[in-house]
Amino acid sequence: MATERTFSIIKPDATRRNLTGAITAKLEEAGLRVVASKRIQMSREQAEGFYGVHRERPFFNDLVTFMISGPVVVQVLEGDNAVARNREVMGATNPANADAGTIRKEFAESIEANSVHGSDSLENAKIEIDFFFKPEEIVG
Ligand code: ATP
Ligand code: MG
Repeated sequence: MATERTFSIIKPDATRRNLTGAITAKLEEAGLRVVASKRIQMSREQAEGFYGVHRERPFFNDLVTFMISGPVVVQVLEGDNAVARNREVMGATNPANADAGTIRKEFAESIEANSVHGSDSLENAKIEIDFFFKPEEIVG
């Protein structure tokens, strides 16, 4: 299996409820290693840039407003098949459809306030990691 890096965000609904540790534990239990982590307050411009692919979706403005409603924790996760493994442990976008034991099933409040983001491909993982981290901030 290939060692990969993926990008994760612990979203404002989760930091607000003090779930950073509980969510990180789930990621680690899934075999992912946190090789970079920082708690930040995203600006509107940053959030709009990050979610640029969703610009035309009806929920875009609400999503950006939600993502800047409080601090987030951005992380780089490393492990075997890290992109797919992270998506697995995150669960479905809508927590109502998420499998038991997943982060979103256990912690998400709604389809929007769904506690975590995870890159959906290795290509996007690289772009998203570069968006938030300098190479020297990632220590494997
Ligand atoms: P993420 O990209 O955050 O990892 P995802 O890949 O499961 O989540 P996307 O389709 O990329 O889901 O949507 C990005 C984010 O937009 C979702 O995580 C959620 O916060 C929000 N979102 C998605 N669909 C809706 C919707 N129908 N209504 C409100 N918010 C939504
Ligand atoms: Mg997505």
